[in-house]
Amino acid sequence: MFPFSLTTVSDTREALNAGSHGGRYIAGGTTLVDLMRETVERPDTLVDISGLPLREVTVTERGGLRIGALVTMSEAAAHPKVRTTYPVVSQSLELSASAQLRNMATIGGNIMQRTRCTYFRDVTAACNKRDPGSGCAAMEGFNRSHAILGTSDSCVATHPSDVAVAFAALEARVHLVGLGAERTVPFADFLLKPGNTPNREQALRKGELITAVEIPAHPRPLKSGYLKVRDRQSYEFALTSAAVALHIRGGVIREAKVAAGGVGTVPWHLPAVEEALIGERPSDRLWAEASTHAADDARPLQHNRFKGELLKRTVERQLRIVGESR
Ligand code: SF4
Repeated sequence: MFPFSLTTVSDTREALNAGSHGGRYIAGGTTLVDLMRETVERPDTLVDISGLPLREVTVTERGGLRIGALVTMSEAAAHPKVRTTYPVVSQSLELSASAQLRNMATIGGNIMQRTRCTYFRDVTAACNKRDPGSGCAAMEGFNRSHAILGTSDSCVATHPSDVAVAFAALEARVHLVGLGAERTVPFADFLLKPGNTPNREQALRKGELITAVEIPAHPRPLKSGYLKVRDRQSYEFALTSAAVALHIRGGVIREAKVAAGGVGTVPWHLPAVEEALIGERPSDRLWAEASTHAADDARPLQHNRFKGELLKRTVERQLRIVGESR
């Protein structure tokens, strides 16, 4: 390990002051400490924000859900309102990491977590995300777990979060605060595709702090759920996943929200699948036809050609599970 300083803050202004001077925020530390041990990240100053009052799940005036940035994954998954209103969020959290990690890791940290690309974590490998301009070892290397959607010539790493896929499907918003200003960013704009700057991963300004993730009220009740396909049943990242939320009334699908994980450089919203569902009656044929759009625009690599077909089957299966649930 290398030397660094640690500052503990007790209010938001103190945190923002430290953050605006280059301090890195840390709460659960379940990603950042690993990366520091591997010297992938070498911050001079850590700002411990775990004492800030950002640990509540509240219902907003408009009936949405606001999950504080420091709510742990376990707390969010177990919250009665989350469980009953958005099972897709609870399930995505419960299928993530291990129980010990879920007890430490926060919602804010979860959506900020960095890729599991092995070359990113190997400081001897070329990696544009870790060391801009150095190249991408994954392009010609072992890229079975990498992305097929949203990739660029600079980077093909997947975003590892499960709950971010649920947030993408539900069109969540990220609440941010900086020195002198608060703002809200649609989840779809918060995480950035790699393009030519894979080292820039979030639409954060210098020193900005995530305060909450808000799931807007959906006036029509949604049935929802999350399916994760992985090489082993626990403590593993997704090869593919699907977050699905449907409103079915009078035997017709009135609203559909679908996103995929394990396949994109960011959680991958699937509007073409949604469009194929809306106005239709649930049936095996519909699930199969709609899911054919899941891998539109996919650009597979040498070792992950299977992901396009696996994604379609994952989406089809989860559409059926949610669409036919009582
Ligand atoms: Fe780095 Fe991205 Fe290439 Fe992985 S895929 S080695 S994170 S540039």
